[in-house]
Amino acid sequence: MTGSNRFNRGFTFGSSRYAIGIVAFTAAVVVVSIVAWRRYHHVPKLPNGTGATPSVAVKPGPFVPDPPGILIHHSDTPASAHGKPFDAAALDRIAAQRGFSTTFEGKVYHISYHYVILPDGTVQKGRPDHCQGAHCPRYNNWIGIVLIGDFQSASKRWWPTQPTDLQKQSLVKLCESLMSEYHIPPENVRRHRDEHETWCPGVRFPYAEIVRELRGYSQEHAETRTRQQLPALIASAGNSKVIVH
Ligand SMILES: [Zn+2]
Repeated sequence: MTGSNRFNRGFTFGSSRYAIGIVAFTAAVVVVSIVAWRRYHHVPKLPNGTGATPSVAVKPGPFVPDPPGILIHHSDTPASAHGKPFDAAALDRIAAQRGFSTTFEGKVYHISYHYVILPDGTVQKGRPDHCQGAHCPRYNNWIGIVLIGDFQSASKRWWPTQPTDLQKQSLVKLCESLMSEYHIPPENVRRHRDEHETWCPGVRFPYAEIVRELRGYSQEHAETRTRQQLPALIASAGNSKVIVH
């Protein structure tokens, strides 16, 4: 009995010390984790002069590899409002209010698209090509191009109600250039509505006409179809340099 009591006392004493050790260790781990989490999730301040205050935290966006495709949108807006054009700057301000903000290589971007095409054919830059977009779930590593206009509403409430000739020309040229640069086949140039429940870029967007032109371009530019062959080409080339253009 005595031996057993002594054993129990000893065991209890040992357990308390053990328990205190565990508690202290756990507390230390929690404190270190909280400090690390706060550092990692530090919210950078917006640079002065943007005039924009995003409603959510601005987190660094991931660097994405070469975009595998292009998605086309319409802005569903008029060409201008209150005397100001609906352009990349206007879309940037709207996106900032909605909280579509990210940082990339030290710069803050709000606009969710990579390119904007105005009714006069001007092409404006949005996010950098390798900065993830915010224009379509699951397709934000694709290039997002938006044409300013309303190509959907039955009342044709806003001009342009269909892409202008200058917009179409710029769109085709831009797509061709991106297809060559990133080895994008014409079947990967799609409408927003092809990948998401939306009418965007509207029923009056002449998709068949655009794709026909891009197919013709692809026939003459083999680099637009080399994406799938690249790994095999590189493997078979060994140490020698592969030139795909
Ligand atoms: Zn869209």
